[in-house]
Amino acid sequence: MVVGDVTTGTEVLVIGAGPGGYVAAIRAAQEGLDTTLVEKDAYGGACLNRGCIPSKALITGSGLAHEAGNAEFMGVHADPAVDMGKMIEWKDGVVDRLTGGVEKLCKANGVNLIEGTASFVDEHTARVAHGGEGQGSESIEFEHAVVATGSRPIQIPGFDFAEDHVWSSAEALDADTVPDRLGIVGGGYIGMELATTYAKLGADVTVVEMLDDILDPYEDDVKRIVRTRAEELGVEFHFGEGASEWSEAADGGYLLHTETEEGEESTYGVDKVLVAVGRRPVTDGLDLGEAGIETDDRGFIETDDRTRTAVDHIHAVGDVSGEPMLAHAASKEGIVAAEVIAGEPAAMDQQAIPAAVFTDPEIGTVGLTEAEAEAEGFDPVVGEMPFNASGRAMTTGHTEGFVRIVADDETGFVLGAQIVGPEASELIAEVALAIEMGATLEDVAATVHTHPTLAEAVMEAAENARGQAIHTLNR
Ligand code: FAD
Repeated sequence: MVVGDVTTGTEVLVIGAGPGGYVAAIRAAQEGLDTTLVEKDAYGGACLNRGCIPSKALITGSGLAHEAGNAEFMGVHADPAVDMGKMIEWKDGVVDRLTGGVEKLCKANGVNLIEGTASFVDEHTARVAHGGEGQGSESIEFEHAVVATGSRPIQIPGFDFAEDHVWSSAEALDADTVPDRLGIVGGGYIGMELATTYAKLGADVTVVEMLDDILDPYEDDVKRIVRTRAEELGVEFHFGEGASEWSEAADGGYLLHTETEEGEESTYGVDKVLVAVGRRPVTDGLDLGEAGIETDDRGFIETDDRTRTAVDHIHAVGDVSGEPMLAHAASKEGIVAAEVIAGEPAAMDQQAIPAAVFTDPEIGTVGLTEAEAEAEGFDPVVGEMPFNASGRAMTTGHTEGFVRIVADDETGFVLGAQIVGPEASELIAEVALAIEMGATLEDVAATVHTHPTLAEAVMEAAENARGQAIHTLNR
C-alpha cells in the first residue's frame, strides 16, 4: 500500500540520530520544545553502530586475549583462543543495548521519532521518505532545524567497498573471522586502532601511509611510542607510499599495489584491505540548496560558534559541520544548538576539546602543545612524568609513555597536555577540566591524588613543571 503524503508540524526538526542529533533532540525536548528526530538507519549513528563503541569493544576483547597470552613475566601462563564470532556477538549486544537506550531516552523525553530519510523542500519544510519502496513520505513544517547527518568513510579510486575483500572501518568491525593478512591503507587514528586490534588477534598487518609517519597531528615522541609498540606487535609500516590498486594473487589472496611520489612501485600480499583514509560529510540527498544552505569546498556545512548555518534558524552539528570530527564534540554542539534554539545564551565557548586514540598505548591530548603555546604568544613551561616512574603503571605491567603538561609560565594557567600511556584516554579528562576551570599548575599539583593511581602522574607532571616533583628529576 502506498501511504499518501501527510503534513505535520514541529518546532524543532533534527535530522540524524547520531551523538550530535539525538543529544540535540533530547536537550530541545528538555527545553520544552516540540521536537521531531528523523533517522534513516540506526539510532546512535556511526558512533554507536560502526565507530567508537564497536571499535572500543574489539580493542578490549583483543587486548584482553593478548594481555593474558603475554603475562609470563607476571607468572601467568595462558594461551587464549579467540572465538571471533562470539566476540562480534558480544560487541553487537553492547551496541544493541546502547542504541535501544538512545531510542528509549528519546521517547522518555518526549521526542517524536520518525524513521526515514529527510530532505529539505524549502527553508521551513522537509520531506521524509519512509523506509523502502511504497512506504510513502510525509512533509514536516519546522520552525528550527538541526542537521546532524554525520560522515561516511572516504573511498579511494580502485578500492570499492562493495568488493568483499575491500573493507571500510564498518566491515573491519563486523568480521567474524580474522584475515591471515590485513593490509591497511592509512595510518590515522582509525587505521592505527584497527591495526593494533587485528595484530593482537593474530593477523599479519601491513600499514601503507602516504606521509612519513602515522598519526599526523600528534607530536613526534608521542607517535614514536605508539609506532614502536605496533612494530613489536608485528605491524609492518611502509611510509611515503599511496595505495594505487589491488589485483588477484596466485595464492588465492590479493596483492595491494602502492606507489611512491617518485613512481616507485611495491606490492604486498593481503587477504583483506582496510581503507581508512578519512571521512567525508553526508549531505547528499538532503537538498540543502532548497533551504538556502551551501557547503564549503570539502562538503562541510559552515557554522558559527552558536552552531547556526548561513540560514539562522537552521543549525548543523557534528561531523557534517567539520572538525573536530569526534563524538563528544558532536554532542556538545548538539546541546548548544538546542539551547540556542530555546533562546539561551549558549555557544561553543569551551577552552579546549580533548581527543583520544585507543591504540596500545593510548594517546590523550587536550589544548595546546608546547610549540602551539609558543606560536600563540605564551611563554610555556612544561612538566613531564614518565610512566616508568609511576608505581601504579609498574603494577599494571605497562610503563611506556608519559604525561606532559603545558602551562603559561607567567600565570601558571594550564594550557594543554599530551599523554601517551596506559589509560591516557581517561587521564586526559583531568587536564580538560583544569583548562576549562582556569586551573593553574599549582592547583593541579596541590590536589591530593589517590595512591597508587595513574592519575598521580598528572599531579607529578604539574609538580615537575614547577620544579617540585618528588618522584622524578626536575627539569
Ligand atoms: P553520525 O554518528 O555519523 O550520525 C549521523 C546519523 O544521521 C546517522 O545515523 C545517519 O544514518 C543519519 N542520517 C544521515 N543522513 C540522513 C538523512 N537524510 N535523513 C535521516 N537520517 C540521516 N569519535 C570519538 O569521539 N571517539 C572515538 O573513539 C571514535 N572512534 C571512532 C571509530 C571509528 C571506526 C569511526 C568510524 C569513528 C569514530 N569516531 C570516534 C568518530 C565518531 O563516530 C563521529 O565523530 C560521530 O559519530 C559523529 O556524530 P554525528 O552525530 O555527527 O554523526
